[in-house]
Amino acid sequence: MRMLLDLVLPLECAGCGLLGENWCAACSRALFVPPVTVRPRVDPGVPCWALGTYSGPRRNGVIALKERGRRSVAAPLGRALAEAVGHLRDAGEIDPPELGSLILVCAPSRARAARARGGDPVLRCARVAAAELAPERVLVPELLRMSGGVRDSVGLSAGQRQHNVAGRIEAVGVRRSRADRGASRLVSHTVLLIDDVVTTGATLAESARVLGEFGVPLAGALVVASA
Ligand SMILES: [Zn+2]
Repeated sequence: MRMLLDLVLPLECAGCGLLGENWCAACSRALFVPPVTVRPRVDPGVPCWALGTYSGPRRNGVIALKERGRRSVAAPLGRALAEAVGHLRDAGEIDPPELGSLILVCAPSRARAARARGGDPVLRCARVAAAELAPERVLVPELLRMSGGVRDSVGLSAGQRQHNVAGRIEAVGVRRSRADRGASRLVSHTVLLIDDVVTTGATLAESARVLGEFGVPLAGALVVASA
């Protein structure tokens, strides 16, 4: 349906509505910036960086990708995340590629399961970011999943959100018995948690906790926008 609409409706920038482009130059300038440190109310225990606040082109872009199924928006968002990785390396916030190969782990979301057919939008962004960093080899393993019973977090307080996701994020494809061996291999890796929007930090914190249980050393969390 979306593809059909794309044929009928004029192309407009997903960030600002400008006609004729998927993502315009002005909206690119809003995305391609050094990431800023954010401190969510629920401390993920690792540094957290965002490309900016959840407003303007970042907000419009995330909504277009997640809620309207406009997959092409993953391209500018993913490229901006890749550039942010470069900024973080330049600033010495995370290790350069020669010290640790990069692994991008997407934070899970409850709603994403329902949209599985359309593909996980954050995973799509992370894959674009990985491709953008080529020839560096960046892995994007699907490690985290949200189990059933998690409510939609809209309208929940920080404490409620934390309770909502507590124990509900699970690692998939990693067996705890193998974690020790896996951890030793991961020491020479830089693992970044990726998400679209950080609100209270509850999901990032729980994701970091689960990764920690499996001995995955998290260097930080990088998100498109901070609400
Ligand atoms: Zn625009």
